[in-house]
Amino acid sequence: MTGDLYTANMNDAQRAYFYSEYQRLRKDEIAGILFAFFLGGFGAHHFYLRRNGLGILYACFCWTGIPSLIALVECFLMPGRVREYNTLLALQLQDSILRGVPVLAPMAPDASPFTVRTCGQCGTPMEQEAVFCTKCGARAA
Ligand SMILES: [Zn+2]
Repeated sequence: MTGDLYTANMNDAQRAYFYSEYQRLRKDEIAGILFAFFLGGFGAHHFYLRRNGLGILYACFCWTGIPSLIALVECFLMPGRVREYNTLLALQLQDSILRGVPVLAPMAPDASPFTVRTCGQCGTPMEQEAVFCTKCGARAA
């Protein structure tokens, strides 16, 4: 991965966080192909890349056998789709870290919008789910 491109303006803590999150959340090309090949008729390869709408559509029509046929063709498209997913993931992580906005907000636990969070280092107000301070780059407690 050419992660240096994304972490050029980060401090060490931010960079370490970027790489650990990227490794945790990135998708695998081989896994994508295997999902499409063996479970594609149920939309598994779409759920794998968080295309839940398509996944549900495939699952609903799995009894027709048509999704299975389409999924076989899609085996060849999976490497490109997985790479695209990972690129978007890296961009999203970079954006979240540098702007101090929630990282992958939909997966973050609920937090009260009425509690003001501030950076322990410099006292700058922070977004509820932000991991790093936008001003000093300190990791939130
Ligand atoms: Zn700060």
